[in-house]
Amino acid sequence: MTGRSHLVLGVACVLTAMSAAWIAPSFEGLCAGALGSLVPDIDTERSMLGSRLKPVSRLLARWCGHRTVTHSLFVPFALAVLIATELGQKALAGPLGAFLIGYASHILGDLPTGGCWALYPLSRNRIAFWPYAKVGSFREYLVLLGSLALLCVLSYHNLCAQPGETAHRAKSVRFIAQERLRAYEQADHQLPRSET
Ligand SMILES: [Zn+2]
Repeated sequence: MTGRSHLVLGVACVLTAMSAAWIAPSFEGLCAGALGSLVPDIDTERSMLGSRLKPVSRLLARWCGHRTVTHSLFVPFALAVLIATELGQKALAGPLGAFLIGYASHILGDLPTGGCWALYPLSRNRIAFWPYAKVGSFREYLVLLGSLALLCVLSYHNLCAQPGETAHRAKSVRFIAQERLRAYEQADHQLPRSET
């Protein structure tokens, strides 16, 4: 995928995660997701981020090549475990979690556009998904549009489901409160009346 497509997909994935209340909605979260969606391509100086950090991207390209180690799902997974261990699970609901979602979205976005080492270190095979779409081609935009449509449906579903859940929870709380009130009233009736 092109850098622009990765940016759009990464931000859309973070927005969907926000709609599901996995990530706290914030501008920082969106920026972190956008950054995460560009980081895996730091292994090539032709990418948006790699062209700005040429020494790093040249070193990585020489060391492991494009779409290899930085394109493994193990990287965001290991980072998530590290963040949860060091900073607590709550940290994953903030910009750090958004960064990891953006990162993972990049790997998934590269699967139909040539593939990558998604399962490294378990496998050094380039894993690719059908339908194959050349980077920057019309097909890539179709894949992107399809993914965005799916994310829109998921976000809509999440946003519609949450008020229902809240209402359900509110009803439960009201029910418990009514039950307690009834129990107090019954207890009050059973108290011996004071004689005057
Ligand atoms: Zn890539």
